[in-house]
Amino acid sequence: MARVVMKFGGTSVADLDRIRNAAQRVKREVESGNEVAVVVSAMAGVTNQLVDYVQSAGSLYDLREYDTVVSSGEQVTSGLLSIVLQDMGINARSWLGWQGPIITNDAHGSARIERIEVDDIIRRFGEGQVAVFAGFQGVGPDGRISTLGRGGSDTSAVAIAAALKADRCDIYTDVDGIYTTDPRIVAKARKMDKITYEEMLELASQGAKVLQTRSVEMAMKHGVRVQVLSSFEDKPGTLVVDEDEIVEQAIVSGIAYNRDEAKVTLRSVRDTPGVAASIFGPLMAAAINVDMIVQNISADKKTTDMTFTVAKADLNRAISVLEDKSNGLTYDSLDSDPSVAKISVIGVGMRSHAGVAQKMFSALADKGINIEVISTSEIKISVLVAEEYTELALRSLHTAYGLDSED
Ligand code: ADP
Ligand code: ASP
Ligand code: MG
Repeated sequence: MARVVMKFGGTSVADLDRIRNAAQRVKREVESGNEVAVVVSAMAGVTNQLVDYVQSAGSLYDLREYDTVVSSGEQVTSGLLSIVLQDMGINARSWLGWQGPIITNDAHGSARIERIEVDDIIRRFGEGQVAVFAGFQGVGPDGRISTLGRGGSDTSAVAIAAALKADRCDIYTDVDGIYTTDPRIVAKARKMDKITYEEMLELASQGAKVLQTRSVEMAMKHGVRVQVLSSFEDKPGTLVVDEDEIVEQAIVSGIAYNRDEAKVTLRSVRDTPGVAASIFGPLMAAAINVDMIVQNISADKKTTDMTFTVAKADLNRAISVLEDKSNGLTYDSLDSDPSVAKISVIGVGMRSHAGVAQKMFSALADKGINIEVISTSEIKISVLVAEEYTELALRSLHTAYGLDSED
């Protein structure tokens, strides 16, 4: 007997037929004698619709009310799947975030899970009951419902698997595994049998939405065995594993893109000690995360241009923070550009191989794609390019690093 967590994403529960299909998979696990906890997302498109409602209802909306609204999609699917399972003769019960409870911190809209109480769930496993959790939600210290950030049902699943000490955490989705890059954009993307936690963490944080970044962090920390697989086809997916489980390590194993950032340039900022602090301090105070940063020295050596990226959703707030000159920041002009994409190549093999960056730069140059900003870390190189080149850049880099599938 094994204890398994099965997570079904939005497209896997998009309508009642798909919910029945998910239920069949749950039934199979139950019939093979396993203890099963299920985590469901909202039906495809529902969360987007709810977010739109919130944004249209009021521009400076209260995040507690945002959570009340956007968490509702998962409530529906957890109830529906429980009904369908019961209809098939399976003892199933839905669980909302406050019922586990799944306790989070107070960061409404992007809360972190702090603790999950599973004693009751485990007792019910003993009675043969399946637990069907509404993903994406928990309860904050204020006793109000909280949500875990977009894509957060992955994190619910991994956190529940860790709390239950589950043998497996299977993430069922609309692709049959983790690919070298988004298979919906690059037809030659190749499915991987295994990927390391570290690489998946980097891919996710650079934009590969197949797993939420925090879910990978949590899996890595608690050693949860995560598999990403198709809810429509019966075949093995991709396992996320420790580095020592991978025999042959590619130099570059994956490429991610992120179109959710915007570029900001401050021209002719006075080049004195403390200038970076005077720009990024107020942004940080306004809870605006800054990602890539470049500082150029201008010809007169007295001023500098500073370019950086922020989330597109934060761009307007960032501009108003920077236009407030009361914090002593002086510059000539502020330019912003939301039409950019960050392309990142990732691979643990980069630690021991030179020339990876050069290959990236020349592959992009060959296609006439201008690089606007570059940033690197131990296992990743990211470049910022004009958004219109996203697909071309992904395809040419995929070929340049020898990642294209043969068929
Ligand atoms: P779910 O609703 O099941 O959570 P998501 O849409 O969040 O599904 O994630 C699955 C999607 O992730 C795929 O449809 C695919 O377009 C995208 N994706 C991005 N990068 C990758 C990658 N490297 N491998 C697989 N899928 C990827
Ligand atoms: N329904 C939520 C979203 O669309 C959570 C999830 O699907 O993981 O972001
Ligand atoms: Mg998802």
